[in-house]
Amino acid sequence: MTLTADALTELTDALPGRVLRDPTEMAPFAVDTSREQLAGDPAAVVLAESTDDVSAALAWAHRHGVKVSVRGAGSGLCGGAMAYPGGLVVSLERMNRILHIDVDNRLADVQAGVITSDLDDAAHEHGLFFAPDPASVRISTVGGNIATNAGGLRCVAHGVTSDAVAALKVVLADGRVIRTGGRTRKNVTGYDLTSLFVGSEGTLGVITSATVRLKPVPPGEPVTFHAMFDDIGAAGRAVIDIVSSPYPPEVLELLDTMSVEIIERYQHTGLPIPNAALLVGQTVGHDAPRIAEGIVGICRAAGATDAGFSASDAMIEARRLANPALNAQGLRVSCDVGVPVSELATIFAGMDEIAQRHGRRIASVAHAGDGNLHSTVEAGETPDEYRAAEAVIDDITRLALSLGGTITGEHGIGSTKHHELSWQLDENTRAAQLAIKAALDPTGILTPDRAV
Ligand SMILES: Cc1cc2nc3c(=O)[nH]c(=O)nc-3n(C[C@H](O)[C@H](O)[C@H](O)COP(=O)(O)OP(=O)(O)OC[C@H]3O[C@@H](n4cnc5c(N)ncnc54)[C@H](O)[C@@H]3O)c2cc1C
Repeated sequence: MTLTADALTELTDALPGRVLRDPTEMAPFAVDTSREQLAGDPAAVVLAESTDDVSAALAWAHRHGVKVSVRGAGSGLCGGAMAYPGGLVVSLERMNRILHIDVDNRLADVQAGVITSDLDDAAHEHGLFFAPDPASVRISTVGGNIATNAGGLRCVAHGVTSDAVAALKVVLADGRVIRTGGRTRKNVTGYDLTSLFVGSEGTLGVITSATVRLKPVPPGEPVTFHAMFDDIGAAGRAVIDIVSSPYPPEVLELLDTMSVEIIERYQHTGLPIPNAALLVGQTVGHDAPRIAEGIVGICRAAGATDAGFSASDAMIEARRLANPALNAQGLRVSCDVGVPVSELATIFAGMDEIAQRHGRRIASVAHAGDGNLHSTVEAGETPDEYRAAEAVIDDITRLALSLGGTITGEHGIGSTKHHELSWQLDENTRAAQLAIKAALDPTGILTPDRAV
């Protein structure tokens, strides 16, 4: 893709002060947090300040046939926001204003580049909160969360990002602007385009602003519970019994022994080291102690060797250290598969066989209440090592699919999982998805060859 000097001047003239061309300045906007390698520098980065800026950038790219990558904060783990060589990066970083907190309707209007925790903090000032809480909440953007349909620790209670999105403003690939959804709780006018754009990973349009749903902050103090198991099957049984009980947790996480040991080696937090698995979680609201007591009772009945609860959230904070702890100790290549909750114990058990067959350590933590598993494989820092670890991930992914699961629960497809799409989706289903893509982006400039 080679652009003429005139074409680039046309872009810089249209968006003065908002276009980067210098490779050093563009570098931070060209990559995300995935293991993908940049194939070449982009031609330009647009630091959009308004929907009109995004519209002008996309109309320009459409006219000149330039590939576009869309970037929130670049915390994505799948290569979705990586720049295309000679392409255009549209960054939403500067569109970071919280426009309005509508307390009466429990809604917030935000620009797409707002950092998720900033929105949550602003909502708290009104006794409300924004439920989606990816572990990257302090660095990722609301637009990126919507584009990936991000999950997090609280999904077992509040669902995923799609459950919190009421309306969107979106710029289509040719620069036209559309609005989806609305401010009412009920709204069945036409196709549900809001849901279509949620999780579309920058392939169908650029989200420039959103109206999102807020919830009231639960009263009282949260209670943290834990349970240790000598047997992964018993831990799996406990998870099934908890999610079908009248004791709803807000957080329900499962860690295998290796993950707990690695976290403790990284930073001594006092997490108890189980023989097979540790279940940690949290309950909230006036009833939090009673609900935690009910959950601990279920764990004991399922065979927990030790279980209890406390007012301190130290164990939840320790769980949040899993990513950096694993990376620091050479476990670098991870996946994001999901299985029905009833199959959680089976996939944990299957991991041992896969680890032995490949001769590589695998540590797993799960958003247990959602059956969403992050297994991380050890790998040295060479391309061969990464390739070998990818083969392990492929086996884990096939195991998840054989159990009725999914290749991605919350991180998305991007480019890193693109080769796995046909493992889960049949030909007709993929064709339907590509037909939607072609209808909204007929020349295929927007995040091509990724996500679908
Ligand atoms: C330490 C760490 C912890 C994480 N924990 C979690 C977790 O618990 N749960 C989870 O789900 N994810 C997690 N992630 C992954 C990542 O933070 C999420 O995918 C997040 O939603 C990405 O937001 P972003 O603003 O960084 O988007 P980016 O990385 O910039 O982009 C991600 C994708 O969305 C598209 N996109 C971004 N903004 C827009 C927009 N405005 N319009 C259209 N498309 C857009 C991009 O093109 C790309 O395909 C974690 C990442 C890290 C580094």
